[in-house]
Amino acid sequence: MAAKVRRNDTVEVMSGKDRGRRGDVRSVVTSSNRLLVGGVNMVKKHRRARSANEPSQIIEIESPIHASNVRVVCRSCDQAARVGFRVLEDGRKVRYCKRCDEAID
Ligand SMILES: [Zn+2]
Repeated sequence: MAAKVRRNDTVEVMSGKDRGRRGDVRSVVTSSNRLLVGGVNMVKKHRRARSANEPSQIIEIESPIHASNVRVVCRSCDQAARVGFRVLEDGRKVRYCKRCDEAID
């Protein structure tokens, strides 16, 4: 099945602690259907010092979020929209916004 969400899409989080937050999709984990979204689902990692000039520290990094918890933000209407698929006359398959009916790809 074609992916509704792809890399470099802007998405809005629909559930969880980051609900309402928007970010860009940095990468897609196809096997688990999860996305790494910039600034979303930040978790603190405790990192041990590995050398004298690199102290132990707590860093915050993004953690993958399930694709069902986000919606693509449409560039035309700037809304978090559901995505449909449509086949053009030349055979290309494109995604479209179910709110404003504009093609996304
Ligand atoms: Zn739209």
